[in-house]
Amino acid sequence: ARALYTAARPNSAALHEKAVAVMPGGNTRSVLAYGPFPTAMTRGEDCRLWDLDGREYLDLCGEYTAGLFGHSEPRIHDALHAVLKRGTNLAAVGEGEVKLAELLCGRFPSLQKVRFTNSGTEANLMAQTAARAFTSRRTCMVFRGGYHGGVLTFPLAGPSPATLPLPFVMANYNDAADATKVARDNASDLAAIIIEPMLGGGGCIPARPDFLQTLRDLADETGALLVFDEVMTSRMSGGGVQQRLGITPDLTALGKYIAGGMSFGAFGGRDDVMALFDAKLPHAGTFNNNVLSMAAGKVAMGEIFTPEAAEKLFTRGESLRARLNEVGKGLPFGFTGMGSMMTVHFRDPLPEAPYAASAEEESLRELFFFDMMAAGIYLARRGMVALSLPVADSDFDRFVAAVGEFVEARRELLQ
Ligand code: PMP
Repeated sequence: ARALYTAARPNSAALHEKAVAVMPGGNTRSVLAYGPFPTAMTRGEDCRLWDLDGREYLDLCGEYTAGLFGHSEPRIHDALHAVLKRGTNLAAVGEGEVKLAELLCGRFPSLQKVRFTNSGTEANLMAQTAARAFTSRRTCMVFRGGYHGGVLTFPLAGPSPATLPLPFVMANYNDAADATKVARDNASDLAAIIIEPMLGGGGCIPARPDFLQTLRDLADETGALLVFDEVMTSRMSGGGVQQRLGITPDLTALGKYIAGGMSFGAFGGRDDVMALFDAKLPHAGTFNNNVLSMAAGKVAMGEIFTPEAAEKLFTRGESLRARLNEVGKGLPFGFTGMGSMMTVHFRDPLPEAPYAASAEEESLRELFFFDMMAAGIYLARRGMVALSLPVADSDFDRFVAAVGEFVEARRELLQ
């Protein structure tokens, strides 16, 4: 499978050779670095992609959730062109940011006030900074397997404290007893409990609602702020997972698709916490209110990804995952996830917490990726699917069929 992949992509291979000469690992997005070399794309339209060697793909990667609107949404393109005609960044406040802030505060239950950043990483860093300033405490509680941005990565084996910007303590995801112990042991210095309501990069593993409720209670008990990193999961309803479950954090981080595919991040929450930014806490940022993101976001969230559209995509995603799991029934193969996000796993039963994958599981994951690429289906190398709005029911059929062929062709390896 690896040899076929390589043979079919001479132009991507050649580009990679040039890239490694000037960028460590050959790219500036670690998630795209995989062997033998990543496929380079040159063009996208709706949910189709074309690579440097002219091969066409069904795009199920969905830009790791940021590509919710596909590659050629005309209303977003029009909004961007209109902005370009008026000159790009104007070193001034503008209507676009007010409108987008109104839209987001109107949608996400925890957002009384919001601020914009350039990325989800920054949004999480700022949310944690706000929590620390508000509580006058230092430590953030995080979960093994969590991902909150480049410098906020918490692998199972434990991150290197040397590379982390903040003091932290770690607990096990979906393990209420462990979280309770860690929170109580660190109560006096606990500023924030930060969690993805579903692990995204960690394998599309949803938090159990009662686990999130335990964290809500622990935050109230210890005086720490509860922060939901909904950078990926905000798509799960009009107002994110927090709205789906009726559990409201003190602060929320957003990012990814919200600016219609432009770079974006936001954090916000309780009025009294966010009031810090009125005078006490600085949060400058040249591109915080960049007009392209603000204008695209206004159309994307106001006109296209309405709460009704979010509900519909959620339901469609649930039904796709159910179909995929029928295909692998009885085998150590299936997808975990929620709504329009799902990740493949090679174990039975499917995991409810992050786990250390065996070498065998890793090689099956790689094989799955190469087989999907051969079938013209592009998903994240780790086997994650993030549906975009243009993905049609006929595309679901095609994906389910390709997964069926994988299961048939590789049955011996799976058993
Ligand atoms: N939090 C989560 C849950 C994410 O998935 C990501 C990005 N994959 C981030 C934060 C960081 O966002 P960004 O890449 O925009 O910095």
